[in-house]
Amino acid sequence: MGLIRLVLLLLLVFAAITLWKRFKLWQQQRNTSQDSEQPALMVRCAHCRVHLPADQAFPGNGRHYCCPEHRDADQQP
Ligand SMILES: [Zn+2]
Repeated sequence: MGLIRLVLLLLLVFAAITLWKRFKLWQQQRNTSQDSEQPALMVRCAHCRVHLPADQAFPGNGRHYCCPEHRDADQQP
């Protein structure tokens, strides 16, 4: 009887560890998918009016530009 209890206890511990690992993995996957689903902030080029993510834009004159050429072209008189 003692051996059966020991085996059952081991199985229970193993199942708990497996469930815990799966839960952590699921939580990790959910967090990463939430990050990737977050929409990037879009800004408009003040020169050609094309939309692009803010982290790829070139700032200048308090505006955003799609490339350094457009920034320079817009700053010339
Ligand atoms: Zn542009």
